[in-house]
Amino acid sequence: MVKFKEVKAKTVLNKYRYRDNSFWCRYGINPYRGCQFACNYCDAITEKYLIHENVEDFSRVIYVKTNAPELLEKELKKAEKDVVALSGVTDPYQPAERKYEIMRNVLEVLKDNGFPVHIGTKSDLVLRDIDILSEISTNSWCALSFTVTTFDKNLLSLLEPFSPPPERRLEAVKKLREAGIMAGVDFTPIIPYLLDDDNNIREVIRKASENGAEYLLPGVGMTLRNNQKTRWFELLKENWPELIEKYEKLYGESQEPNREYVVEINRKTFEVCKELNIKTYTPPPDFERPLKENFQVANLLLLIAYFKERRTGNPYAAWAYHKAAQNIEELEESIRDIHNENELEKISGVGKNLAEIIKEFLDTGKCEKIERLKTEW
Ligand code: SF4
Repeated sequence: MVKFKEVKAKTVLNKYRYRDNSFWCRYGINPYRGCQFACNYCDAITEKYLIHENVEDFSRVIYVKTNAPELLEKELKKAEKDVVALSGVTDPYQPAERKYEIMRNVLEVLKDNGFPVHIGTKSDLVLRDIDILSEISTNSWCALSFTVTTFDKNLLSLLEPFSPPPERRLEAVKKLREAGIMAGVDFTPIIPYLLDDDNNIREVIRKASENGAEYLLPGVGMTLRNNQKTRWFELLKENWPELIEKYEKLYGESQEPNREYVVEINRKTFEVCKELNIKTYTPPPDFERPLKENFQVANLLLLIAYFKERRTGNPYAAWAYHKAAQNIEELEESIRDIHNENELEKISGVGKNLAEIIKEFLDTGKCEKIERLKTEW
């Protein structure tokens, strides 16, 4: 029996230090804490995110921030317009949303204030709000990423026992795309030895493509941290004891699988996406904001970083690009003026190589490097 605890949050809009180059968000909102979908691989039960005293309560006690819309209305008055991730931690369209409609009201507020959004969910309940999403998409920017990891019913009953079936999520992708709203598939996590075989990878990508997904985000190696690791190993012990040794080898003392493995999975997903003509990244956001060209240049660098990270399996492989992008975003003058003065290398974090990339982009509107990264492994 699930209990709902209505709470009055003190703050609701969390600002991230750096822009994420997968969801492109700079803010996150969590209307709910705890998640009724109770996926057995969930990383929201790790200490980093958990607010429940007892990990077992994560899916049984759902905290509902009933004042989120009013609070957000106030907080947005002081915030710069930027992409808001919904949600940062748990699924915003879990069953509680049917009753409380916090997401619907939060989206209304974001729409009225012109804020772009990127929603991540496993639920087609999001279609209820297609009217608001359509307005956000037209007037600002909107992306919806539906997690799909497999269609194997036996595996799903153990991995994601309470989520809507993946077929319904893909139908939602199709409907959103038909309504002109950007939607794609988040293939996360690609679980080692259960979901990483060629057939599963191909099936997820093929079905995403058949349903009109604009992009597919390949999961970059399942993390295994404290509570999450304990739960996962319990599941392995009960159902796939023969995999325990393989996991111990693959992870060692780390919270992530070894890099060679991650790169190989990334390469496989990249090749199938290329064959089926589906993007492996979320197209960068496009919405009205001051110094928009600076923002476009910053996003170009972040997208290059995204591909480098996937090719190396190292989330820090392109940190210089992240820092330079952030510095460019924070400039108070136009990067084109700086370029015209021949002073790009005076921007903090922009060396000779990055300056060349920026120059090419500002002079031609293109970037050869990014075109190559999009199409070649
Ligand atoms: S839907 Fe997401 S947040 Fe909810 S239990 Fe599953 S993995 Fe965790």
